[in-house]
Amino acid sequence: MSNHLYDGVFAPHADSTKTFLYTADREISFAEFTALTDRIAAMLVAQGLAPGDRVAVQADKSVLLFALYAATVKAGGVYLPLNTGYTPAELDYFLGDAKPRIVVTSSAAAEAITPIAARIGAVLMTLDGDESGSLSKAAMQHEGPFTAVPRGSEDLAAILYTSGTTGRSKGAKLCHRNLRSNAEVLRKYWRFTADDTLLHMLPIYHTHGLFVASNLLAMVGGSMIFLPKFSADVALEWMPKATSMMGVPTFYTRLLDHEGFTAKASSHMRLFISGSAPLLAETHRQFEELTGMAILERYGMTETNMSTSNPFEGDRRAGTVGFALPGVEIRIADAKTGTPLPDGEIGIIEQRGDNVFLGYWEMPEKTAESFHEDGFFITGDMAVRDADGYISIVGRDKDLIISGGLNVYPKEVEGMIDDIEGVLESAVIGVPHRDFGEAVVAVVVREDKGLEAAMVEAALAGQLAKFKQPKAVLFTDALPRNSMGKVQKAELRKTHTDLFA
Ligand code: AMP
Repeated sequence: MSNHLYDGVFAPHADSTKTFLYTADREISFAEFTALTDRIAAMLVAQGLAPGDRVAVQADKSVLLFALYAATVKAGGVYLPLNTGYTPAELDYFLGDAKPRIVVTSSAAAEAITPIAARIGAVLMTLDGDESGSLSKAAMQHEGPFTAVPRGSEDLAAILYTSGTTGRSKGAKLCHRNLRSNAEVLRKYWRFTADDTLLHMLPIYHTHGLFVASNLLAMVGGSMIFLPKFSADVALEWMPKATSMMGVPTFYTRLLDHEGFTAKASSHMRLFISGSAPLLAETHRQFEELTGMAILERYGMTETNMSTSNPFEGDRRAGTVGFALPGVEIRIADAKTGTPLPDGEIGIIEQRGDNVFLGYWEMPEKTAESFHEDGFFITGDMAVRDADGYISIVGRDKDLIISGGLNVYPKEVEGMIDDIEGVLESAVIGVPHRDFGEAVVAVVVREDKGLEAAMVEAALAGQLAKFKQPKAVLFTDALPRNSMGKVQKAELRKTHTDLFA
């Protein structure tokens, strides 16, 4: 039997006239989506895409963009989505590292990307949020049907970059088996069927919106209300048509802040799922009080797809991420020795299973460092398991900041601040923020007392994606350090914990 991701997830469904995607102004049936995918796949091959070649994409969410993902996989390529917030300078690194055969960007970014694409010998195409651009024009020159290019279960289907604390981003290699098996597990665990309509307001450059949500709904032959971004107003308009939603915690706090969000407004829904960052126990409780439904919190990461989940039936416990999913082996181990710890003790989550990625793109040492010899992947997330088996994430070992569900690595921001004239040194931390989960805060030691916060912010604006830019720049005379000279970030976080309270 084929283990192809396309065959498992996107292969034509029994009722091809059924609506797969609803957008603000149209409905796309499964048959139309397949036809679109086939045109794009044929076009990619005509542009020289060979099996295993990367297609790197930075574009606004649209039906065509989603079809480009399915088409890349069908054509035997490796899909490489990039956060739309990345600047051309950041793209330079990703493209140079991944060496894609085809690069797709917005027409606004095309001029800046042209020399980079030329340097790596890639074909550059454009795709805008309204689906205009050279990609759609070229695809319309082609016609299906297009037969999926055979691929093995260990062949790559996607590479997703997850920044590293050492500054350099790492490309997580995900194979057909990883993605297909995880969708299959979630289908059963969360009881998704063709009767489901998912309210999809997540970005599709990240594992949450692209794989967890989209692969799953495509696989079961359900429908998605496929919208460019989250807004509580728009969510409430569509909710009577939806059965389920997947969101980052911010979605839920914003819904709770909206006066139109009531038990009645959510009465057509059967399931709300949260992940990508910790859901406050308080949010969980408020939500249940208002709607009578408990948000189902799950945990995963780019490298591992979904790993744990609260139960579908049974107690969905606030502040926990539930149990290991079927087929996922989880152990909580001592950070230094790697020895598995008994329940109740805090350690690093390590995991093994079909869900776990193959390694980091062209980084054999980083890959080797991240796995034990027995195949367990060292996630870097600190957690504890209680006597009932529920796992709670207690923090991250390397001070990763998650703002609005997106990862910000302090080291990268610190490096840029330190380069600003008048700066001696800096520490970037995350502090609690009701809306974003965490806010990026920079604590800076000045050489030049004339340096102001606005000057630091202005210097970063052109270099860093908006979500990585500090929400506050504070000045201090000296950073707190331990006897080994290491900056004590926990202490800094404590000092500034109420900044956005
Ligand atoms: P990403 O690779 O962008 O999906 O980020 C993965 C990281 O997000 C994980 O390593 C965790 O630190 C964090 N994360 C994901 N889900 C949760 C959750 N439910 N609770 C706490 N942290 C989470």
